[in-house]
Amino acid sequence: MHDSPRLQDDVRPAAEHPVYWLSPAGLAVPPVFGSVMPFPVSQSGTRPDDVICLIGLGASNPERELREIRRQFGAAPYLLAVASLGLSTETRLRLIELDADDVIGDHSREDLLIALARADRVLAERRLSSLRIDRLERERAYLQASIDSLPPPIFFKDRAGIYLGCNKAFEAYIGLSAEQVVGSSVYDVAPQHLAQIYEQADDELMAAAGTQVYETQVRFADGSFRDVCFHKAALVFDGEHVEGLAGVMLDITKQKAFEAQLKEAAERDPLTGVYNRRKFMDVLDQRASAAASGDGHGFAVAVIDVDHFKRINDTFGHAAGDAVLCRIAEIGMTCCGEDDLFARAGGEEFYFLIDEPHGGRAEELAQALRLALSRICLGEGAIAPRVTASIGVAHFRPGREEVHETIRRADRALYSAKDAGRNQVMMAA
Ligand code: GH3
Ligand code: MG
Ligand code: MG
Repeated sequence: MHDSPRLQDDVRPAAEHPVYWLSPAGLAVPPVFGSVMPFPVSQSGTRPDDVICLIGLGASNPERELREIRRQFGAAPYLLAVASLGLSTETRLRLIELDADDVIGDHSREDLLIALARADRVLAERRLSSLRIDRLERERAYLQASIDSLPPPIFFKDRAGIYLGCNKAFEAYIGLSAEQVVGSSVYDVAPQHLAQIYEQADDELMAAAGTQVYETQVRFADGSFRDVCFHKAALVFDGEHVEGLAGVMLDITKQKAFEAQLKEAAERDPLTGVYNRRKFMDVLDQRASAAASGDGHGFAVAVIDVDHFKRINDTFGHAAGDAVLCRIAEIGMTCCGEDDLFARAGGEEFYFLIDEPHGGRAEELAQALRLALSRICLGEGAIAPRVTASIGVAHFRPGREEVHETIRRADRALYSAKDAGRNQVMMAA
């Protein structure tokens, strides 16, 4: 076994890259090479990647010598194996397989010069490729850093639906690292039933080569549910080929909560908290349509008006009047069954939609409500003034009237109740 190979500078070839002679077997530079290459070699400033090594291989075990050199010097140097004339073609081919960049004989100056020119060219191309790769890697690092610094989850997939990349926010959403995400499909990261939905949406998007915007609720890996708005777009290359898709999930949880608050506020009476006239009329219309088409129960509408409410205000003050309205709303809500609806129509007037599956319930419930309201005391003691209300009730007659007519009939019944002395329930004809 020879000493470990050393780079020597006693070869002076006509090459643009520094050339070294290296021979584990201790062979000298073939005379035919040395005598015709009187070029100086400077080792200063030499990059180990950009050198050409002439490897003087011995005859006994050239493969092993070459493998050892490659192991020591790595992939970068251009290894030009110099084989003695005695080496078979088979062995020369084997040297190429073993990572020699080229193989020449040791007897021809011309072969050497051609091999060196080829080596120069290969090294120049390698250098260019490596610069290109560096630049691409840097660009990619910029892009990744850019999407990583953005708060919404971002992802992109190829035409077959395989994830090609994502940002940190997407990793947090899905609970997997980018390494785990990349190369997987939606079936690897989502439950089967959701994966099918996502896959179908992706396919439609790519088939249409367009964009998709939709809102949905998703569960993050930390267990939290968020309302999100998906913005997805097909990736169209050269203006025609769909190569995949990119998507971003905008968190709209706060917006949704705010919208729900607004909707709720728009449906509620601010003083009593019960539904307002608008919401009542919406529900009433839906119930009327359902009942008319035979889909829902029958129902009745009760109109409730506080008796002499003006006096309450005048005697006890407006704030006390407000408190009475709130108490009435509370009592109305306790009378409400699952399919009933109690609402403030305005002023001291309330509406009550009473579900009527069999008949008789509406009158019974209206009487119970009237009784409960009559127990509201405006002060302490047995002689404290009490609140009473008059109630008119009308059953909806599907197919025979619009529901607004039902309210009018209930109103007329209410007037009759007032005329009859108040604090009573009157059923519409
Ligand atoms: P009736 O038995 O005939 O129904 O007599 P009433 O006094 O109840 O009827 P009227 O319609 O004359 O009076 C209703 C009063 O309700 C007048 C109005 O000032 C009062 N009111 C309306 N909205 C509110 C409110 O939000 N708070 C208070 N405190 N009073 C209200
Ligand atoms: Mg009134
Ligand atoms: Mg009144």
